[in-house]
Amino acid sequence: MKTTEMTGGSQRPLSLSDLNVNQLAARVNDLGAESYRVTQILDGAWRSVATSWSGVTTLGKLLQERLANEFRFSAFDEVERQEAEDGATTKLLLTLSDGAKVEAVLMRSPADPRRGSGPRATVCVSSQAGCAVGCPFCATGELGFTRNLSAGEIQDQVRIARQILRTEDRELTNVVYMGMGEPLQNIDAVFASIDGLTDPARGGIGQRRITVSTSGVVSGIERLAKQRPQITLAVSLHAARNPLRDLLVPLNRKWPVEAVISAADSHSRATGRRTTYEVTMIDGINDRAEDSAALASLLRGSGAHVNLIPMNAVAHTPWQESKPERIEQIANQLRAAGLTVTVRRNRGREAGAACGQLAAEKAGAPTPIAVARRRELLVAASAAALQGQRTAQPIAPSGPLGGEA
Ligand code: SAH
Ligand code: SF4
Repeated sequence: MKTTEMTGGSQRPLSLSDLNVNQLAARVNDLGAESYRVTQILDGAWRSVATSWSGVTTLGKLLQERLANEFRFSAFDEVERQEAEDGATTKLLLTLSDGAKVEAVLMRSPADPRRGSGPRATVCVSSQAGCAVGCPFCATGELGFTRNLSAGEIQDQVRIARQILRTEDRELTNVVYMGMGEPLQNIDAVFASIDGLTDPARGGIGQRRITVSTSGVVSGIERLAKQRPQITLAVSLHAARNPLRDLLVPLNRKWPVEAVISAADSHSRATGRRTTYEVTMIDGINDRAEDSAALASLLRGSGAHVNLIPMNAVAHTPWQESKPERIEQIANQLRAAGLTVTVRRNRGREAGAACGQLAAEKAGAPTPIAVARRRELLVAASAAALQGQRTAQPIAPSGPLGGEA
């Protein structure tokens, strides 16, 4: 029988990555094994292609069995792989021990000699199953919230990405917390996972190669600046004006635009690191002249980096991506305000921005009635927001997990 302990706040089997090195050393000692076994275990977990205890051959059969009785080698019961973009992107649909499903996406890019950068491979990890924030353009938001992931469940997404890359003779260069969930609403597990990823004995990944993306949890941005200052911050802004941002990011009702920008500026001053702002471009909603002008004046002089990402169409919204010409105009307007701007194209569609969609598909579609109802509400609320009216209530997801179906 596997040990059942608290992981991420509920009773689930403990997995290897839920332990830090001291905890692992204590367990190894309890099992009567020598301390050098700790290094063998961690090398097996982080630097081999083993997928189970029996694959870590340095340990010998007896210790493999004892460890297997104590904790799981991987947090996942099932790993489903889907390749896209001619093999540049791998989507992983991962089933956790309680049946919850999350997604991780691995993106590979070639060397860029003009920038002097070598080949890159980035994994986009999930921090929660579902998400409680409920942004209406996001497939994960539509699922509603299931639960927080444990530190081990987050790290194991990175372990699996590294294993895939190892078979291709490539290195993982970057980790982004931009998959399912709001990382700063699961901040303790996210920080513990960062500690595992950056620990030389475990992940050994440089702090500066890790980015946490948030929809604007101000208290979390403040903790990030104080407690993990080397980590890069990305803020999902989407709108510079409160009425529209209330609709696009319901958390804006708690922490409005000014509070988010001020927290990001303090983060940048305290850490000496540039903030990245993400703006998902939605046709006729946040790409109108007033909005781009408001965005340019809000960020002018901040030295920030802005990523403009065409919205990936999701079933439950009436919205579409902005026209490419309009995105280009806005990019130039922002550049004229002194900002560095990147327009994401296919990558956004196929990978990071589409994160959550595979899991949402697997969870089953909300009922057509719920979708139709939600579309009506979104049309009415966006019309009101465009006229500057702040709506009282966020629009609830239509399901299948969160819903008003
Ligand atoms: N919850 C965090 C991190 C996960 S979402 C956050 O919101 O920042 C990661 C990014 O994907 C966010 O910038 C989000 O706005 C974007 N995104 C979500 N759904 C999208 C869609 N349908 N099209 C394009 N980008 C999307
Ligand atoms: Fe949650 Fe981010 Fe999706 Fe908003 S965009 S619902 S915060 S995962």
